[in-house]
Amino acid sequence: MANTEIAGEMLEFFVDKETCIGCVACADAYDQIFKMVDDKAVAYAKAEPGSVRPTRVIKCCPVDAISLVAGEMDEGEEELTSLDIVEGWREEWAKHRNEPEELLERERRYGRIVHLLKEEKGFRLRIELPRTIPNHRLVYMYGIHREPPEYEYVVEQIGPRTLSVRARLTDPKLRFLAGKINSFPVSFKVDFAFPDAVGACYRRLYEGGIEIYAFLEGVLDTDAQLRKAMLTHVA
Ligand code: SF4
Repeated sequence: MANTEIAGEMLEFFVDKETCIGCVACADAYDQIFKMVDDKAVAYAKAEPGSVRPTRVIKCCPVDAISLVAGEMDEGEEELTSLDIVEGWREEWAKHRNEPEELLERERRYGRIVHLLKEEKGFRLRIELPRTIPNHRLVYMYGIHREPPEYEYVVEQIGPRTLSVRARLTDPKLRFLAGKINSFPVSFKVDFAFPDAVGACYRRLYEGGIEIYAFLEGVLDTDAQLRKAMLTHVA
């Protein structure tokens, strides 16, 4: 059996328990490295070099609790400056060019489809993400599949009632494309004001978008079961 040798030291991450707010984002995104123990994340396993991008792993934490303690740091995402043109793209484009653009999809690319649900101890906020990428000739010219695009995102509290959510396309090919197609931004920012002041917030990606659970201010909740139930419940 062929043995693929991967050069370099194994990647080892560390979670600062004091800083970790138990949002579960790392354990959701990299369950091969992180797991939750007593409401905090721990890095229970090392990763093969090249299997994950350390910069991306570190950035998934909203409070900078994750650091790389062994292995090589990557240089972050390089931006593409060109893509190869695929043969036969004109025929493919001709088949799809008259498909109508869904207005809802366009709004999702700007984070404008937002749902707020009132819960017993706070609010659940959902920001829908696009289901596909625009139907544009460049998509066919560069042979890009029209699948749901992935986003990385950061949530920040900027006022007693207000959260700021910034999301950005993760795929360099899509970022290259987004710079050339109208109504397809590389990133979006949503500032959302809740009806009441909020305190601790937990967030995750759910099928279809970003979900944030914001506790009402003063509700100090350290109950892991309750938090898990809130994060797994889909209304
Ligand atoms: S992403 Fe950061 S804050 Fe959230 S559980 Fe992991 S280490 Fe803790």
